[in-house]
Amino acid sequence: MTSPKGKIMLVGIGPGSHDHMTQRARAAIAEADVVVGYVTYIKLVADLLEGKEVVRKGMTEELDRAVHALASAREGKKVALISSGDAGVYGMAGPTYEVLFQAGWTPESDVQVEVVPGASAINACAALVGAPLTHDFCSISLSDLLTPWPVIARRLDAVAASDFVVALYNPKSGRRTQQIVQAQALFLRHRKPDTPVAVVKSAYRRRERIEFTTLDKMSDCDIGMLTTVLIGNSHTFVQHGLMVTPRGYANKYDLDDGGSTRAGERAGRSLSTGLLGWMENLRADHAEGISIAALAQQHKLPADYIEAVLNAPVEVEEAVASTEESEA
Ligand code: SAH
Repeated sequence: MTSPKGKIMLVGIGPGSHDHMTQRARAAIAEADVVVGYVTYIKLVADLLEGKEVVRKGMTEELDRAVHALASAREGKKVALISSGDAGVYGMAGPTYEVLFQAGWTPESDVQVEVVPGASAINACAALVGAPLTHDFCSISLSDLLTPWPVIARRLDAVAASDFVVALYNPKSGRRTQQIVQAQALFLRHRKPDTPVAVVKSAYRRRERIEFTTLDKMSDCDIGMLTTVLIGNSHTFVQHGLMVTPRGYANKYDLDDGGSTRAGERAGRSLSTGLLGWMENLRADHAEGISIAALAQQHKLPADYIEAVLNAPVEVEEAVASTEESEA
């Protein structure tokens, strides 16, 4: 008989309430012989731990946790490494794979690995404040424990300029108090002072607290280790205590007029300023004598990109029977 295969499960338990943990996360913990995690997260699943080996680790012992998990799995045990939110978002999934690769592990080897997805803080906090992520968004961690500040600052500058909705993870701790002030200064170079900001602390936990503010006042808020800061884009608004980022329907439909399609636009088709429509206009403008440099400046795009687009063969959008836009 072959020995039972060991397993490492990287379990995201969601923001912190049982209701927001997935069935698979609960089942994975129930299935485990060993549960390893940061003390706070172990406490959140205390009711599931009877009869199991529980390893409580401190915050900075991440690699230890992964090494321990591998050793146990090699003995044939099932190990659940628990992370809050999603285990792959600033969590244990990455360091665990790194430790595994270093130890010569491959997906075909004796230890099976499963990543169990969970609702990350960005999802949880967004749900509590309304619908801030309905258009392009990204997350940036302000933790400089493992990332040099210039790298973080460059990313803040780039996303602030490109009008993403942004979630700031790890915004502030007892020792790291100035990162949020610097982030604010970088954002204010590109965004209006009254840009909506939501500061969400302990989402779906006992001490949950939500504060709406604006970019110019963001760093004065009560922000800590369990806070996620959501910064809106140039279209985000707050109404009736809800932060909403428009999807863009107003570009295509007249919302004041019962939703009729705007002139020049068609339901189920790219906007007239979508790729092909835009290319057409670009070619026309260039043919009228507007220089590549001027077009680059007008559209805030690199000149070599504009040039490549102008040199590309002309394509016509295919007419398709069904609508290809996903509205879900
Ligand atoms: N893996 C986690 C993130 C770990 S990094 C996830 O996917 O959510 C830790 C940071 O996550 C915190 O500093 C905070 O910014 C954010 N965070 C985690 N849980 C949170 C919660 N319940 N409410 C608000 N922010 C939270």
